[in-house]
Amino acid sequence: MKGVNTMLREQLEIVRGKIDAACKRSGRKPEDVLLLAVSKTKPASAIMELYEAGQRDFGENYVQELREKHEELPKDIRWHMIGHLQRNKVKYIADYIYLIHSVDSKELADTIEKEAFKHNRVISVLIEVNVGEEESKFGVRIDEAPELAAYIRSLPHVKLCGYMTSAPYVADPEENRKYFRELRQLSVDTDLQNDNNETVGILSMGMSNDYVVAVEEGATCVRVGTEIFGARHYD
Ligand SMILES: *Cc1c(COP(=O)(O)O)cnc(C)c1O
Repeated sequence: MKGVNTMLREQLEIVRGKIDAACKRSGRKPEDVLLLAVSKTKPASAIMELYEAGQRDFGENYVQELREKHEELPKDIRWHMIGHLQRNKVKYIADYIYLIHSVDSKELADTIEKEAFKHNRVISVLIEVNVGEEESKFGVRIDEAPELAAYIRSLPHVKLCGYMTSAPYVADPEENRKYFRELRQLSVDTDLQNDNNETVGILSMGMSNDYVVAVEEGATCVRVGTEIFGARHYD
C-alpha cells in the first residue's frame, strides 16, 4: 500500500498534467501557468512532502496559520495570502509574504503600503474581483477595479501585479468560462506593464472545480487545494 504522502505527490503531478494539457489545447506554454498548492488546514508534513517534490508556491487563507507554517517550514517557500486580509493583520506577514491575492480596498492597500515601507520592501499584490457579484464573497466589482488599480499604482511600496477571482461554485465549470473571460478582458483593458513595456499581468483564477477552464481562458496562476490534498476538515 502507498503512503498518504506518495499520493500527495501523485495528485500534484495529475493536476500539473491537466494544466499542461489545457495549455496545449489553447496554444499556451505550460511554464506560463503557476500551480499554487492551497494548503490551508493541512499539516506542515503534507507541505514538506510536496516541497521535497519541488513545489515552492503555497497558498494560505488565515494569517495565524500562515505565520505558524512560515516559522516552521523552509525559508525558500513562496507564501501566497489568498484569503480575506484584515488590515490589523498585515503587519504579521509584511516582511515575507510573496504575493497578496486579496486586496479589495484602498484602505487595505494603504495599510500594506505602510507596512511595506517599514520593512523596506515592495509588496506585490493582486486586486480581488468578485466576478459573480456574490454576496458571500469579498472583492470589488469588475467596474470598480480600474479605479482601485490606479490608486494602487500610485503607492510606492505596493506593486500591482494583476487580478484574482474566485468564481461561483457551479456543477458545470463551463458556466464559469464567461467570468474568466471577463477577468482576462479587465487585465487587457488596464494593461499592466513593466518598465520594459511588457505586459506582466497575473491572472489568479481557477480552483479545484474549474482550473482547467480557467487555464483555457488565460489563467497564469491556479489555486488548487482539494484536488491535491483531499477534502478539508475544519474543527
Ligand atoms: C480554499 C481556496 C482555494 C482552493 O480551493 P479548492 O476548491 O480546495 O481547490 C482557492 N482559492 C481560495 C481563495 C480559497 O479560499
